[in-house]
Amino acid sequence: MKPTKLYCEIFGHNYKMTKKVTNHVKEYTCKCCKKQLTTSSTGRLIELTEKRQEINSALERIYNSRTLRLQQKLVSSSIY
Ligand SMILES: [Zn+2]
Repeated sequence: MKPTKLYCEIFGHNYKMTKKVTNHVKEYTCKCCKKQLTTSSTGRLIELTEKRQEINSALERIYNSRTLRLQQKLVSSSIY
């Protein structure tokens, strides 16, 4: 067992937000052992698996395109 992992087991993980997927879904990484978490659809923190990472990147694409459309709408409405 690595000493950093042992530290986490004694003192708890030291999670830091590493990515904002949407307003509600974020990804976190432990600064010590690099364990990754993400927000589940129910708002709880779950382990970031490969499958979850795929879901998150799909979510991010949808979220970004929606935000972009909203911005374009705002721009055009300020012109007229
Ligand atoms: Zn940790």
